[in-house]
Amino acid sequence: MHVIRPDQPEYDGAGTPIQPALTPDLLADVREYSRNGARPWPSARPRVVIIGAGFGGLNAARELGDKDVDVLVIDRNNYHGFWPLLYQVATAGLELESVAYPVRAIVRKHSNISFMMAEVVRIDLAAKLVYTNTVALPYDYLIIAAGSANNYFGNDSLAEHTFGLKDVEDAELLRNTVLSNFEYAVSEQDPQIRQRLMTLVIVGGGPTGVELAGAFVELVNHVLVHDYPMLDISEARVVLVEASDKLLAAFPPNLRANALHRLQSMGVEVRMKTAVAAVEHDVVTFADGSTLESSVVVWAAGVKGAPLAENLGVKLARGGRIPVMSTLNLAEHPEVFVIGDIAYLESQPQGQASYPMVAPVAIQMGERAARNILARLRRRDLKPFRYFDKGNMATIGRRSAVLDAFHIRLTGYPAWIGWLIVHLMFLVGFRNRVVVLLNWAYSYFTYDRSLRLITGLKPEELKPPQPRRIHLTSHAGVDDQ
Ligand SMILES: Cc1cc2nc3c(=O)[nH]c(=O)nc-3n(C[C@H](O)[C@H](O)[C@H](O)COP(=O)(O)OP(=O)(O)OC[C@H]3O[C@@H](n4cnc5c(N)ncnc54)[C@H](O)[C@@H]3O)c2cc1C
Repeated sequence: MHVIRPDQPEYDGAGTPIQPALTPDLLADVREYSRNGARPWPSARPRVVIIGAGFGGLNAARELGDKDVDVLVIDRNNYHGFWPLLYQVATAGLELESVAYPVRAIVRKHSNISFMMAEVVRIDLAAKLVYTNTVALPYDYLIIAAGSANNYFGNDSLAEHTFGLKDVEDAELLRNTVLSNFEYAVSEQDPQIRQRLMTLVIVGGGPTGVELAGAFVELVNHVLVHDYPMLDISEARVVLVEASDKLLAAFPPNLRANALHRLQSMGVEVRMKTAVAAVEHDVVTFADGSTLESSVVVWAAGVKGAPLAENLGVKLARGGRIPVMSTLNLAEHPEVFVIGDIAYLESQPQGQASYPMVAPVAIQMGERAARNILARLRRRDLKPFRYFDKGNMATIGRRSAVLDAFHIRLTGYPAWIGWLIVHLMFLVGFRNRVVVLLNWAYSYFTYDRSLRLITGLKPEELKPPQPRRIHLTSHAGVDDQ
């Protein structure tokens, strides 16, 4: 087996590549992978393993495409998820296929990039091995781009009884549950249970919470009102709960005020300075002891580094993120780069707040990490990460958004057009762009959403115990224990 490790003395006196110490077990694993994978691994070139095919990982891979390295991208899913449009899947505006794109279709454009669908369970930094659920893979350079997970701040009741919005399964489950609850409400005789079924609570007034609240209230007011003439739609409530006194905290005050006003005028109940203490079956308890009954509570109030960070053996920074040097690698293991949501780097030159967990940061970090790996192979100096801030935007609903970019601050229709264009540009795949554009045009002109099917993932199959299970017991007499 011919392996070059470029970050160690590479050649002996006779110019022969130095072989790494491969144990029999590791050799067996590597051979197993070589049999299953499209390309042999390891190869004669430096091996770069990238964990995560999200915004960061994919852009790092693209930057390494057709260079003199062999790249292996590993992801638990076989698709790249475009999370900024995920809320539209949850609110029946887009089909899930429109916000996801097969990783293999992206990487096959480069002959030096392979993909493996697997769950990475452990990384041995000392041995330079990535353990997946199936094989162990050696690397010369590693890019960790595993993204983020919901942060419930140690509150088990939140983790257990709220819906998340982190991947397509979450979005599909949320859509199915909301639509199912309206179906059950039709035959529900008890007004209290009916009200609970038609009440949606979203916790967290950041962009995800605001976009979700706006889209849900539009779904109710423009679509479900016609679908369910037998229901008194005025009983339906969309409640947005925010612990601080600010919605969209990253935006300037006038845009925040505009977003609040717009949401309220659309019919969203916005509760500021209201912290959620617990969520049990169908009941939200606030910090002041008051309660609200709701069958669907969405948690959009906190994120932390992906769980993979926790078993790396590195002291983690705030938010369970992996601290990196300005060149995006680890001080103790310079061959390991960490990028995107899972990386913690204080922004330069202020040196106080960390870079936000947003797609542009992940994209630019991916490019910088890849360029630094190439620089290292060419024995050049690594460059520090510099973020080019292109601004913030959030949509609030039909014909309404807020946009803050390059000292331009827009609200309403112009901001909404800007939001549409940017999201279409960054969406991966021509088909997806066309389908999304057609869906948006259809919804815009008809006020309709054609994707309100209850299919695939059902609440009771996936995440028991869920609020709807309680309803099934009381409503249809089904014992769910
Ligand atoms: C609902 C929602 C809306 C958002 N809206 C916006 C927005 O409007 N604008 C914006 O800029 N940002 C937005 N973001 C944030 C943005 O999506 C993230 O900042 C960005 O995705 C981070 O990129 P990443 O590469 O670090 O992680 P991700 O893009 O999340 O990719 C991580 C990848 O790693 C994989 N992975 C994780 N762990 C493992 C493992 N153990 N084994 C194998 N694979 C693994 C995952 O499957 C995933 O594909 C939003 C996020 C969400 C969830």
